[in-house]
Amino acid sequence: MKICVYPGSFDPLTQGHVDVLRHAAELFDKVYISVLNNGAKHPVFTTEERVEMIRIAVAAEKIPNVRVDSFNGLLVDYAHCVGAGYLIRGLRAITDFEYEFQMDALNRRLASDIQTVYFMASPEHSFLSSSAVREIGSFGGDINGLVPESIKNTIAERLAKP
Ligand code: ADP
Repeated sequence: MKICVYPGSFDPLTQGHVDVLRHAAELFDKVYISVLNNGAKHPVFTTEERVEMIRIAVAAEKIPNVRVDSFNGLLVDYAHCVGAGYLIRGLRAITDFEYEFQMDALNRRLASDIQTVYFMASPEHSFLSSSAVREIGSFGGDINGLVPESIKNTIAERLAKP
């Protein structure tokens, strides 16, 4: 059985993430989309909120073979724990590439049995990031089409709070 982990901050989940998730679910028997719980960044949404929103969106979008989870510690340790041999990441631009290139080298060093698979962002989502959604939402701007419809209002209401 081919199992992969799609890790990230997902603060919050965007249509770009959903796009990558769909492709991963087509290729793999099981996809763990897992929220990083101990990142250096200070997330706006709590881990529980992010996990819950991903659950709602995955159910609404009817993406098969997906498990929603969160993890602490090293990604490769988590991947071993769930029996995954692959990691999934998305690439939008050269700036993503540089970071991913470094992460790939480090992860290979830590776990040579785990490979990372990359999906290029679709052109309509290449500009889309969670930080852009947070910025637009915090000023009351329209996030329609940037995040899944099923969680759009939850995200907009939460971001609009002072
Ligand atoms: P992280 O903090 O781990 O980068 P993110 O939630 O920002 O977490 O992103 C998770 C993954 O999804 C990363 O590989 C990122 O490059 C990818 N990603 C983010 N936005 C998009 C998008 N619009 N299209 C494709 N991939 C994306």
